[in-house]
Amino acid sequence: MVLMMSSSGAEGTATEVEAETEEADVCCANCGIAPVDDIKLKICDGGCDLVKYCSDRCQENHREQHEEECKKRKANLRDKELFEQLEESCFGECPLCFLPMPLDHEKSTFFSCCCKLVCNGCEIADEISSGDDRCPFCREPAVTGKEENDKRVMERVKVNDPNALRKMGTRRIQEGDYETSFEYYTKAAELGDTIAHYQLGCMYYSGEGVERDEEKGICHWERAAIGGHHSARHNLACIEERNGNIERSVKHLIIAANLGCEDSMKDLWKHFSAGNITKEELESTLRTHKAAIDATKSAQRDAAETYYQQLAASRR
Ligand SMILES: [Zn+2]
Ligand SMILES: [Zn+2]
Ligand SMILES: [Zn+2]
Ligand SMILES: [Zn+2]
Repeated sequence: MVLMMSSSGAEGTATEVEAETEEADVCCANCGIAPVDDIKLKICDGGCDLVKYCSDRCQENHREQHEEECKKRKANLRDKELFEQLEESCFGECPLCFLPMPLDHEKSTFFSCCCKLVCNGCEIADEISSGDDRCPFCREPAVTGKEENDKRVMERVKVNDPNALRKMGTRRIQEGDYETSFEYYTKAAELGDTIAHYQLGCMYYSGEGVERDEEKGICHWERAAIGGHHSARHNLACIEERNGNIERSVKHLIIAANLGCEDSMKDLWKHFSAGNITKEELESTLRTHKAAIDATKSAQRDAAETYYQQLAASRR
């Protein structure tokens, strides 16, 4: 009974709020004019999605009065997007076995022919079953040497393949050419590549190759975190913690841990000891965290890991 009362009460409030927004929606927030005849209202350029104006002048005149509300609303909208739990990481699935890609990039292989990332499980299984050295995805014969491989990647750069652009970005960093690397990453990020946003965040935050700019670094890490990059989110958690925003830091850590990030899970244990999260929160995160990691496992991938371990041991 009490519950039903509270629910109908809440509904009433929601309708009122909606009506109010609609009201504000149809008139200029400054002069109150309605969009009749050739009067058109445009949304506030502050990105708040709250008010409309009939002219730039009205927007300007209303600015002082609206500024605080506008900023607050925009920050709320941004937080809503930033703290959304994603189902999968930005690494997606292996194009061959369709299992989620491991977060550890050492467990997948990049093929310069098609610029696809294939999980090591599929790579090794294909090598053993086919007996030849071809790309398991597009069947192109492998080429040897950095130069030959780079030439192929450059072919994909020409058609704006984000994977290729990112690969060349990383290649240039390895050679110490940060400037060109920055250009490749920027192009990939502009095409919506989440990992490139993460890399740009690192460059800005550390000041490698660009003038150090923490704010820009955080901005790129936020784009990457929204896209499902666990390390970007882990970094944001560290920054929030350093700034004393424990609640925000923990929120980031939970999202990253749920994607399978081990570092974030470790930090959550510390936060549990410090009393910053409840036992229930910790346990539920731990379950999702384990499930995310288990989802990336397969017999084929285990076999590949053993193969690479033995290979490394034989080279020692
Ligand atoms: Zn107006
Ligand atoms: Zn606004
Ligand atoms: Zn695979
Ligand atoms: Zn290929």
